[in-house]
Amino acid sequence: MAENNRAAGRAGAAADAGDVPAKTARAPLTWRDLYRALAAWAPDLTPDGWWGIADPYERAWGTVLVQNTAWTNAKRALEGLRARGLTAPDALEVADRAAVEKAIRPAGYYRQKAATLRRLAAFLRRTPLEQPCDAASVEALRRALLAIKGVGEETADTLLLYVFRLPAFIGDAYTRRLAERLWGRPFAYGEVRRAVLAEGFAVDELALFHALIVEFGKDVCRKNAPRCAGCPLAAACQLAGRVGARR
Ligand code: SF4
Repeated sequence: MAENNRAAGRAGAAADAGDVPAKTARAPLTWRDLYRALAAWAPDLTPDGWWGIADPYERAWGTVLVQNTAWTNAKRALEGLRARGLTAPDALEVADRAAVEKAIRPAGYYRQKAATLRRLAAFLRRTPLEQPCDAASVEALRRALLAIKGVGEETADTLLLYVFRLPAFIGDAYTRRLAERLWGRPFAYGEVRRAVLAEGFAVDELALFHALIVEFGKDVCRKNAPRCAGCPLAAACQLAGRVGARR
């Protein structure tokens, strides 16, 4: 879902993110500060453009297919489902197991993923995409998604945010790595999720925020060789220029 927007990140890399507060004890970076800085870094990025898929059910299948593989492989598997007319929940739920496995083979783990897709399809067939957005209802839906075998926290939160369009956030590896470097300490999945949601972002902002973090993590704050020189967050980052030296 990300590769078609890497140009947006590169184009925005030189953008002025001047409202990032410097790291001081009195003015710690907030998630809102981070959101603003990343939005300035890639001003043309949109959640829909980042996904490259408008259909909510195709997004749901993509969320499962991308587990433990690259998006390019998940996309090929999704094309396999499309070619066999298996992208609607009612079609996928009752599809022949072997046919689903064959369609999604490029994504790897195809037996487990085919079973998860069929279970998720059954769930989505009986669950309207329009859902109440109060906190208790969202939490109940999250628990129901997590009860589906093969759906973990990252998958459930991605489904909530990009399929149901509800307030949710994904504390994935990109987000935790960036947070660790910016704030100088480790973050757990749930801590990231709760901290971002506590700052009162709108759903559209949350959807863009995650896309921005992923693209920034691929282009600038990379796992092994972050581009700290010229990074728009360097002034606020606890580990600017020190990631290689530290590990
Ligand atoms: S300064 Fe370096 S480590 Fe810090 S956010 Fe930027 S790229 Fe990542």
